[in-house]
Amino acid sequence: MANPVSDSHSNTVAVQATNDDASASKLSCVKKGYMKDDYIHLFVRRPVRRSPIINRGYFARWAAFRKLLYQFLDVEKKDENEPIKKQILSLGAGFDTTYFQLQDEGKAPYLYVEVDFKEVTSKKTALIETSNQLRNKVGEAAVISREKGEVLSDHYKLIPADLRDRQQLSDIVARADMDPRLPTFIIAECVLIYLDPDSTQAVVGWASQTFSTAAFFLYEQIHPDDAFGQQMMRNLESRGCALLGIHATPTLHAKEKLFLDQGWQRSVAWDMLRIYNDFIDAQERRRIERLELFDEFEEWYMMQEHYCVAIAINDAMGLFRDFGFINEESVPHSS
Ligand code: SAH
Repeated sequence: MANPVSDSHSNTVAVQATNDDASASKLSCVKKGYMKDDYIHLFVRRPVRRSPIINRGYFARWAAFRKLLYQFLDVEKKDENEPIKKQILSLGAGFDTTYFQLQDEGKAPYLYVEVDFKEVTSKKTALIETSNQLRNKVGEAAVISREKGEVLSDHYKLIPADLRDRQQLSDIVARADMDPRLPTFIIAECVLIYLDPDSTQAVVGWASQTFSTAAFFLYEQIHPDDAFGQQMMRNLESRGCALLGIHATPTLHAKEKLFLDQGWQRSVAWDMLRIYNDFIDAQERRRIERLELFDEFEEWYMMQEHYCVAIAINDAMGLFRDFGFINEESVPHSS
Protein backbone atom coordinates (compact mmCIF):
# COMPACT_ATOMS: atom_id res chain seq x y z
CA MET A 1 0.00 0.00 0.00
CA ALA A 2 1.17 3.49 -0.73
CA ASN A 3 2.65 5.18 2.29
CA PRO A 4 1.89 8.91 2.24
CA VAL A 5 5.00 9.61 4.30
CA SER A 6 7.60 7.83 2.20
CA ASP A 7 5.85 8.90 -0.99
CA SER A 8 6.03 12.56 -0.10
CA HIS A 9 8.98 14.30 -1.60
CA SER A 10 10.66 17.61 -1.08
CA ASN A 11 10.88 19.73 -4.12
CA THR A 12 14.12 21.66 -4.43
CA VAL A 13 12.49 24.78 -5.83
CA ALA A 14 9.88 24.84 -3.07
CA VAL A 15 12.53 24.31 -0.38
CA GLN A 16 14.58 27.19 -1.82
CA ALA A 17 11.45 29.33 -1.66
CA THR A 18 11.25 28.80 2.11
CA ASN A 19 14.23 31.15 2.21
CA ASP A 20 12.17 33.96 0.68
CA ASP A 21 9.51 33.25 3.22
CA ALA A 22 12.00 33.46 6.09
CA SER A 23 13.42 36.74 4.76
CA ALA A 24 9.96 38.28 4.44
CA SER A 25 9.09 37.21 7.98
CA LYS A 26 12.32 38.66 9.36
CA LEU A 27 11.57 41.96 7.64
CA SER A 28 8.06 41.93 9.12
CA CYS A 29 9.63 41.58 12.60
CA VAL A 30 12.15 44.33 11.96
CA LYS A 31 9.41 46.74 10.90
CA LYS A 32 7.46 46.06 14.08
CA GLY A 33 10.54 46.61 16.26
CA TYR A 34 11.14 43.02 17.40
CA MET A 35 14.73 43.13 16.27
CA LYS A 36 17.22 45.23 14.38
CA ASP A 37 18.50 44.22 10.97
CA ASP A 38 19.69 46.96 8.63
CA TYR A 39 20.18 44.55 5.73
CA ILE A 40 17.23 42.19 5.40
CA HIS A 41 15.14 44.72 3.44
CA LEU A 42 17.72 44.48 0.64
CA PHE A 43 16.75 40.82 0.18
CA VAL A 44 12.97 41.15 0.14
CA ARG A 45 11.21 42.18 -3.02
CA ARG A 46 7.66 42.25 -1.69
CA PRO A 47 7.41 43.12 2.00
CA VAL A 48 4.50 41.56 3.88
CA ARG A 49 3.02 41.99 7.32
CA ARG A 50 2.97 38.81 9.36
CA SER A 51 0.57 38.06 12.21
CA PRO A 52 1.74 38.71 15.79
CA ILE A 53 2.21 34.98 16.45
CA ILE A 54 4.53 34.58 13.46
CA ASN A 55 6.47 37.69 14.45
CA ARG A 56 6.85 36.43 18.00
CA GLY A 57 7.99 33.01 16.73
CA TYR A 58 10.67 34.55 14.54
CA PHE A 59 11.77 36.77 17.38
CA ALA A 60 12.17 33.73 19.65
CA ARG A 61 14.22 31.94 17.01
CA TRP A 62 16.40 35.00 16.47
CA ALA A 63 16.90 35.69 20.19
CA ALA A 64 17.86 32.09 20.97
CA PHE A 65 20.29 32.02 18.06
CA ARG A 66 21.84 35.36 18.98
CA LYS A 67 22.35 34.48 22.59
CA LEU A 68 24.16 31.25 21.73
CA LEU A 69 26.16 32.89 18.96
CA TYR A 70 27.40 35.63 21.33
CA GLN A 71 28.33 33.02 23.91
CA PHE A 72 30.48 31.41 21.24
CA LEU A 73 32.01 34.67 20.01
CA ASP A 74 32.77 35.87 23.55
CA VAL A 75 34.44 32.69 24.76
CA GLU A 76 38.17 33.13 25.41
CA LYS A 77 40.94 31.09 26.96
CA LYS A 78 41.64 32.43 30.43
CA ASP A 79 45.42 32.21 30.36
CA GLU A 80 45.92 33.84 26.96
CA ASN A 81 45.93 37.49 26.01
CA GLU A 82 45.47 37.04 22.27
CA PRO A 83 41.83 36.69 21.21
CA ILE A 84 41.13 33.26 19.72
CA LYS A 85 40.46 33.17 15.97
CA LYS A 86 37.05 31.70 15.26
CA GLN A 87 34.95 30.72 12.30
CA ILE A 88 31.26 30.33 11.51
CA LEU A 89 29.80 27.96 8.94
CA SER A 90 26.19 28.52 7.97
CA LEU A 91 24.61 25.57 6.12
CA GLY A 92 21.59 26.46 3.98
CA ALA A 93 22.23 30.10 4.89
CA GLY A 94 19.70 31.50 2.42
CA PHE A 95 19.57 35.29 2.64
CA ASP A 96 20.59 35.37 6.28
CA THR A 97 22.27 38.69 7.15
CA THR A 98 24.08 37.78 10.36
CA TYR A 99 27.50 38.32 8.81
CA PHE A 100 26.68 41.90 7.81
CA GLN A 101 25.24 42.65 11.22
CA LEU A 102 28.25 41.23 13.06
CA GLN A 103 30.47 43.49 10.96
CA ASP A 104 28.52 46.53 12.16
CA GLU A 105 28.70 45.32 15.74
CA GLY A 106 32.47 44.82 15.52
CA LYS A 107 31.94 41.16 16.37
CA ALA A 108 32.57 39.44 13.02
CA PRO A 109 34.73 36.33 13.42
CA TYR A 110 37.96 35.67 11.58
CA LEU A 111 36.02 33.76 8.91
CA TYR A 112 32.31 33.55 8.06
CA VAL A 113 31.25 30.92 5.49
CA GLU A 114 27.80 30.55 3.96
CA VAL A 115 26.65 27.58 1.87
CA ASP A 116 23.44 27.05 -0.08
CA PHE A 117 22.19 25.74 -3.42
CA LYS A 118 23.72 27.56 -6.36
CA GLU A 119 20.32 29.02 -7.32
CA VAL A 120 20.26 30.77 -3.95
CA THR A 121 23.93 31.77 -3.70
CA SER A 122 23.75 33.24 -7.23
CA LYS A 123 20.91 35.52 -6.20
CA LYS A 124 22.70 36.50 -3.00
CA THR A 125 25.90 37.12 -4.96
CA ALA A 126 24.07 39.43 -7.38
CA LEU A 127 22.53 41.38 -4.52
CA ILE A 128 25.89 41.73 -2.78
CA GLU A 129 27.49 42.90 -6.01
CA THR A 130 24.86 45.54 -6.76
CA SER A 131 24.35 46.93 -3.25
CA ASN A 132 27.01 49.32 -1.99
CA GLN A 133 25.87 48.68 1.53
CA LEU A 134 26.57 44.95 1.24
CA ARG A 135 29.62 45.25 -0.93
CA ASN A 136 31.35 47.50 1.55
CA LYS A 137 30.96 44.82 4.14
CA VAL A 138 32.60 42.05 2.10
CA GLY A 139 35.52 44.34 1.33
CA GLU A 140 37.23 45.85 -1.68
CA ALA A 141 39.30 42.79 -2.45
CA ALA A 142 36.38 40.38 -2.63
CA VAL A 143 36.15 38.23 -5.76
CA ILE A 144 32.49 38.20 -6.73
CA SER A 145 31.26 35.82 -9.43
CA ARG A 146 27.58 35.77 -10.28
CA GLU A 147 28.20 32.97 -12.71
CA LYS A 148 29.69 30.70 -10.07
CA GLY A 149 27.33 32.04 -7.40
CA GLU A 150 30.36 32.70 -5.27
CA VAL A 151 31.84 35.48 -3.14
CA LEU A 152 35.38 34.99 -1.88
CA SER A 153 37.00 37.52 0.40
CA ASP A 154 39.47 37.17 3.23
CA HIS A 155 36.89 37.00 5.99
CA TYR A 156 33.66 36.10 4.18
CA LYS A 157 32.89 33.32 1.70
CA LEU A 158 29.62 32.48 0.01
CA ILE A 159 29.81 29.08 -1.68
CA PRO A 160 27.33 26.98 -3.68
CA ALA A 161 26.94 23.34 -2.69
CA ASP A 162 24.28 20.69 -2.39
CA LEU A 163 24.59 19.41 1.17
CA ARG A 164 23.29 15.98 0.07
CA ASP A 165 26.35 15.47 -2.11
CA ARG A 166 29.14 13.94 0.03
CA GLN A 167 31.89 15.19 -2.23
CA GLN A 168 30.61 18.78 -2.29
CA LEU A 169 30.20 18.61 1.47
CA SER A 170 33.76 17.56 2.14
CA ASP A 171 35.07 20.09 -0.40
CA ILE A 172 33.63 23.01 1.62
CA VAL A 173 36.62 23.22 3.98
CA ALA A 174 39.16 23.57 1.18
CA ARG A 175 37.03 25.85 -0.99
CA ALA A 176 36.35 28.22 1.88
CA ASP A 177 39.87 27.91 3.25
CA MET A 178 38.60 26.93 6.68
CA ASP A 179 40.96 25.75 9.39
CA PRO A 180 39.43 22.65 11.02
CA ARG A 181 41.38 23.30 14.21
CA LEU A 182 39.75 26.68 14.89
CA PRO A 183 36.68 26.90 17.13
CA THR A 184 33.75 26.72 14.74
CA PHE A 185 30.06 27.59 15.11
CA ILE A 186 27.94 25.62 12.66
CA ILE A 187 24.45 26.87 11.88
CA ALA A 188 21.63 24.78 10.42
CA GLU A 189 18.41 26.76 10.75
CA CYS A 190 15.43 25.07 9.07
CA VAL A 191 17.67 23.20 6.65
CA LEU A 192 18.52 19.62 7.64
CA ILE A 193 14.86 18.73 8.26
CA TYR A 194 14.25 19.01 4.48
CA LEU A 195 16.94 16.41 3.73
CA ASP A 196 16.50 12.66 3.77
CA PRO A 197 17.74 11.13 7.07
CA ASP A 198 20.88 9.62 5.51
CA SER A 199 21.99 13.01 4.20
CA THR A 200 21.31 14.69 7.54
CA GLN A 201 23.35 12.04 9.34
CA ALA A 202 26.14 12.50 6.82
CA VAL A 203 26.21 16.28 7.36
CA VAL A 204 26.20 15.92 11.16
CA GLY A 205 28.87 13.19 11.03
CA TRP A 206 31.06 15.11 8.62
CA ALA A 207 30.88 18.21 10.83
CA SER A 208 31.86 16.21 13.90
CA GLN A 209 34.78 14.51 12.18
CA THR A 210 35.98 17.77 10.65
CA PHE A 211 35.78 20.25 13.53
CA SER A 212 37.26 19.17 16.84
CA THR A 213 36.28 22.34 18.72
CA ALA A 214 32.80 23.23 17.58
CA ALA A 215 29.25 24.11 18.52
CA PHE A 216 26.49 22.97 16.18
CA PHE A 217 23.27 25.04 16.30
CA LEU A 218 20.22 23.28 14.87
CA TYR A 219 16.75 24.85 14.72
CA GLU A 220 13.85 22.88 13.28
CA GLN A 221 10.51 21.17 13.77
CA ILE A 222 9.60 18.27 16.09
CA HIS A 223 6.49 16.21 16.96
CA PRO A 224 4.95 15.50 13.54
CA ASP A 225 2.45 13.00 14.93
CA ASP A 226 0.04 14.89 17.18
CA ALA A 227 -2.87 16.92 15.77
CA PHE A 228 -0.91 20.17 15.46
CA GLY A 229 2.08 18.31 13.99
CA GLN A 230 -0.06 16.55 11.40
CA GLN A 231 -1.52 19.87 10.30
CA MET A 232 1.96 21.38 10.12
CA MET A 233 3.11 18.46 7.96
CA ARG A 234 0.10 18.80 5.63
CA ASN A 235 0.70 22.53 5.21
CA LEU A 236 4.33 22.01 4.25
CA GLU A 237 3.63 19.04 2.00
CA SER A 238 0.98 20.99 0.12
CA ARG A 239 3.64 23.60 -0.62
CA GLY A 240 5.99 20.89 -1.90
CA CYS A 241 8.44 21.12 1.00
CA ALA A 242 7.90 17.97 3.01
CA LEU A 243 10.01 17.58 6.12
CA LEU A 244 11.78 14.44 4.95
CA GLY A 245 13.89 14.19 8.09
CA ILE A 246 11.27 14.62 10.77
CA HIS A 247 10.25 10.99 11.28
CA ALA A 248 13.87 10.00 11.91
CA THR A 249 14.16 12.66 14.66
CA PRO A 250 10.61 13.36 15.92
CA THR A 251 11.48 14.23 19.54
CA LEU A 252 14.01 16.22 21.56
CA HIS A 253 15.64 12.97 22.62
CA ALA A 254 15.98 11.89 18.97
CA LYS A 255 17.62 15.20 18.00
CA GLU A 256 20.16 14.78 20.82
CA LYS A 257 20.80 11.20 19.75
CA LEU A 258 21.33 12.23 16.12
CA PHE A 259 24.42 14.15 17.21
CA LEU A 260 25.73 11.64 19.76
CA ASP A 261 25.42 8.80 17.25
CA GLN A 262 27.50 10.81 14.79
CA GLY A 263 30.35 11.30 17.24
CA TRP A 264 29.58 14.63 18.94
CA GLN A 265 30.74 14.72 22.55
CA ARG A 266 27.66 16.39 24.01
CA SER A 267 24.26 17.44 22.82
CA VAL A 268 21.15 18.99 24.30
CA ALA A 269 17.80 19.88 22.73
CA TRP A 270 15.09 22.14 24.17
CA ASP A 271 11.77 23.03 22.63
CA MET A 272 11.06 26.66 21.86
CA LEU A 273 8.47 27.04 24.60
CA ARG A 274 11.08 26.22 27.21
CA ILE A 275 13.64 28.38 25.42
CA TYR A 276 11.25 31.32 25.29
CA ASN A 277 10.42 31.03 28.99
CA ASP A 278 13.74 29.97 30.48
CA PHE A 279 16.56 31.04 28.16
CA ILE A 280 15.65 34.23 26.30
CA ASP A 281 16.29 37.27 28.50
CA ALA A 282 13.23 38.28 30.53
CA GLN A 283 13.83 41.94 29.76
CA GLU A 284 13.76 41.28 26.01
CA ARG A 285 10.62 39.21 26.40
CA ARG A 286 8.89 42.02 28.26
CA ARG A 287 9.95 44.49 25.59
CA ILE A 288 8.61 42.54 22.63
CA GLU A 289 5.42 41.46 24.38
CA ARG A 290 4.37 45.12 24.39
CA LEU A 291 4.80 45.57 20.64
CA GLU A 292 1.54 44.07 19.40
CA LEU A 293 -1.80 42.98 20.73
CA PHE A 294 -1.54 39.25 21.34
CA ASP A 295 -4.26 36.83 22.30
CA GLU A 296 -3.39 33.57 20.52
CA PHE A 297 -1.91 31.94 23.60
CA GLU A 298 -3.13 28.38 23.04
CA GLU A 299 -1.85 28.41 19.49
CA TRP A 300 1.42 29.99 20.60
CA TYR A 301 2.16 27.26 23.16
CA MET A 302 1.41 24.55 20.62
CA MET A 303 3.47 26.14 17.90
CA GLN A 304 6.47 26.64 20.18
CA GLU A 305 6.32 23.02 21.29
CA HIS A 306 6.77 22.01 17.66
CA TYR A 307 10.10 23.78 17.15
CA CYS A 308 13.35 23.15 18.92
CA VAL A 309 16.99 24.09 19.17
CA ALA A 310 19.59 21.37 19.51
CA ILE A 311 23.16 22.23 20.39
CA ALA A 312 26.00 19.78 19.99
CA ILE A 313 29.52 20.31 21.25
CA ASN A 314 32.98 19.01 20.43
CA ASP A 315 35.47 20.52 22.80
CA ALA A 316 39.04 19.50 22.09
CA MET A 317 40.29 22.93 23.24
CA GLY A 318 38.19 22.94 26.43
CA LEU A 319 36.38 26.19 25.61
CA PHE A 320 32.75 25.21 26.00
CA ARG A 321 32.33 24.09 29.60
CA ASP A 322 29.87 26.93 30.26
CA PHE A 323 28.32 27.01 26.81
CA GLY A 324 24.65 26.33 26.16
CA PHE A 325 21.24 26.98 27.67
CA ILE A 326 22.65 28.79 30.63
CA ASN A 327 20.67 31.74 31.82
CA GLU A 328 22.98 34.06 33.68
CA GLU A 329 19.94 35.84 35.14
CA SER A 330 19.04 32.78 37.17
CA VAL A 331 22.58 32.21 38.47
CA PRO A 332 22.73 33.60 42.02
CA HIS A 333 25.37 36.31 42.36
CA SER A 334 27.56 36.14 45.43
CA SER A 335 27.92 39.54 47.03
N1 SAH B 1 18.96 29.33 7.26
C1 SAH B 1 18.22 30.41 6.65
C2 SAH B 1 17.39 29.94 5.47
C3 SAH B 1 16.37 28.89 5.79
S1 SAH B 1 15.45 28.37 4.34
C4 SAH B 1 17.34 31.07 7.68
O1 SAH B 1 17.13 30.50 8.74
O2 SAH B 1 16.84 32.14 7.40
C5 SAH B 1 16.26 26.85 3.94
C6 SAH B 1 17.49 27.03 3.09
O3 SAH B 1 18.17 25.79 2.99
C7 SAH B 1 17.15 27.48 1.67
O4 SAH B 1 17.90 28.61 1.33
C8 SAH B 1 17.53 26.25 0.84
O5 SAH B 1 17.98 26.58 -0.47
C9 SAH B 1 18.64 25.64 1.67
N2 SAH B 1 18.83 24.20 1.41
C10 SAH B 1 17.90 23.23 1.51
N3 SAH B 1 18.42 22.05 1.11
C11 SAH B 1 19.71 22.27 0.74
C12 SAH B 1 20.75 21.45 0.22
N4 SAH B 1 20.55 20.15 -0.03
N5 SAH B 1 21.93 22.03 -0.07
C13 SAH B 1 22.13 23.35 0.16
N6 SAH B 1 21.19 24.19 0.65
C14 SAH B 1 19.97 23.65 0.93
